[in-house]
Amino acid sequence: MSGTRIRQVEVMPIRAPRREAVRSGLNGSDPVTASEFGIVRILTQDGVEGLGEISITFPRIGFSLCHAAKRMLAPAVVGLDALATPVVLAEIDRVMGGELSAPYLRAAFEMALLDITGKHFGVPAWALLGGRMRERAGLAWGVYQKSPEEMAADAAAGWAAGFQAIKLKVGRGLEDDLAAVRAVARAVDVPLRLDANMAWPSTAEAARAMRALAGVGRVEWFEQPLGRRNLEGLRALRQQTGLPVMADESCQSLRDAYELARGEAADVWNVYVAEAGGLRAAAEIFSLGAAVGVPCILGSQAEMGIATAACAHLAVALPWLPYAIETFGPLRYERDIVTGPGMIAGGWLTPPAGPGLGVELDWDAVKSMMVEL
Ligand SMILES: [Mg+2]
Repeated sequence: MSGTRIRQVEVMPIRAPRREAVRSGLNGSDPVTASEFGIVRILTQDGVEGLGEISITFPRIGFSLCHAAKRMLAPAVVGLDALATPVVLAEIDRVMGGELSAPYLRAAFEMALLDITGKHFGVPAWALLGGRMRERAGLAWGVYQKSPEEMAADAAAGWAAGFQAIKLKVGRGLEDDLAAVRAVARAVDVPLRLDANMAWPSTAEAARAMRALAGVGRVEWFEQPLGRRNLEGLRALRQQTGLPVMADESCQSLRDAYELARGEAADVWNVYVAEAGGLRAAAEIFSLGAAVGVPCILGSQAEMGIATAACAHLAVALPWLPYAIETFGPLRYERDIVTGPGMIAGGWLTPPAGPGLGVELDWDAVKSMMVEL
């Protein structure tokens, strides 16, 4: 068993330039032009490599998380058995002591351990996540805030490429939002997901915006119209408008999902591997959703190739996945951190073949993005 013990943990902070600046209801005046993420590379005594990714877009604490991974978590997990994932994760939970950003680190380490476990047993990660339910998962495309013409052109390109739904960032002010949704609705014939990122200040204002926006396009759902903790407001919006509401910022942990279920606060939940604290933790939220009849999608922190591969393995293993998911992160970058043909084609996400996550680092790309902390 000693051969599977963790010999070394490397943490590589990277700054990955985005193809396009991110503007949303969270940061209209402060666009994000590069992702500050981290790569976690775990090596066992036998030399088996496991890859994980620290991915967080808001708030921009990726490098702080890299620092914690390197200084606190790496020393704590060296010597533990990489196949004993729950033991390693329990140690991470102990060291992080309930820190609110801990799930992002937990997710990165769990990915790397799953990668090692898959390689050890010679099976793809999806086999460790319950087995394969489907060959691939359908994707939605996401459009950031910009002019109505630019948003329509972006959406039309996504539709032409085969994406099955279009998500728009709204929440700028009703006239701007109406102009954007009108333009996009004219350009594509797919359902529109309107994500306000908590931008509407009151239930009344959100209800007014939702009714108006639903009048100018075919809306699949309204994502996070109100603040994270305002579950009563979300429930009231559902009742008052009869329009579907998705919880995103309100749905980070399994406990959050429990509160949403108890409060009947959303029609659909947006679940993130990074926010939940890993692939299994995310799957638990999907299970709770299934138990109470709430469908979930997999959401995205604009993950790069490692974490997107992990999401792809989970997506093909989830028993109930009725809607297109949003883990198209690699398309946000000029260059990915992994080699290979890419997992996204024609609006579909397919997990890479091979044991574990099935990805290998593109060292040239990684070196070009690495940052000294
Ligand atoms: Mg969202």
